[in-house]
Amino acid sequence: MERLQKVLAHAGVASRRKCEELITAGKVEVNEEVVTELGVKVDPDVDEIKVNGRPIRKEEKVYILLNKPKAVISSVTDPAGRQVVTDYLKGIKQRVYPVGRLDYDTEGLLLLTNDGEFANMLLHPKHGIDKTYHATVKGIPHGNVLDKLRKGIKLEDGMTAPAEVEYYDVNPEMNKSVISVTIHEGRNRQVRRMFDAIHYPLSKLKRVKFGFLTLQGVRRGKFRYLTKSEVKEMK
Ligand code: URA
Repeated sequence: MERLQKVLAHAGVASRRKCEELITAGKVEVNEEVVTELGVKVDPDVDEIKVNGRPIRKEEKVYILLNKPKAVISSVTDPAGRQVVTDYLKGIKQRVYPVGRLDYDTEGLLLLTNDGEFANMLLHPKHGIDKTYHATVKGIPHGNVLDKLRKGIKLEDGMTAPAEVEYYDVNPEMNKSVISVTIHEGRNRQVRRMFDAIHYPLSKLKRVKFGFLTLQGVRRGKFRYLTKSEVKEMK
């Protein structure tokens, strides 16, 4: 729910100030009733809003795939003034929100949208979307150790569900490896905590896949729109 004047302004009716004047002047109707108070909250997807008898334009739904760099917050504002993901969406007029989040230090695939229903559906545990990460660690964890992650490992908030875990890149000269991990849950800092639990703290974490979506063709810090058929397929 949002304030009526904000919804009007975002629909391109006029500036926020001018929209307030339209409301107090009795020019705005919500569900066939004239509203003259400024505090009224509405849901632009559900309520029928008219100005001077004409329905306002609905905000076009957009679906964006961002390749988030590290050291960026997965939110739309940061009181501490750090970089936020929407800083990377120059030219996008709609107010979009991240679908879930990646940690400040995690990079990779993040979806953003102004379609709240779509976002809630994807985040619902019952949907259990597969998310694949490339986790970089110092050393080369033994297969038996990785089996613990495959089977499920105990964290403070309970056992993790079975995960798919494979070596992605093993580099004995550099004494490091990149492990590919696919999980269906989305607990806070889950992958980092899973690797902490096997005593291989991560030096880098990158999400490379969300459902069937990959980062292909999207360089770090860049974004692309999902196609209509991709959005349909995600649902
Ligand atoms: N797991 C983590 O630990 N961090 C993320 O950003 C995503 C998944």
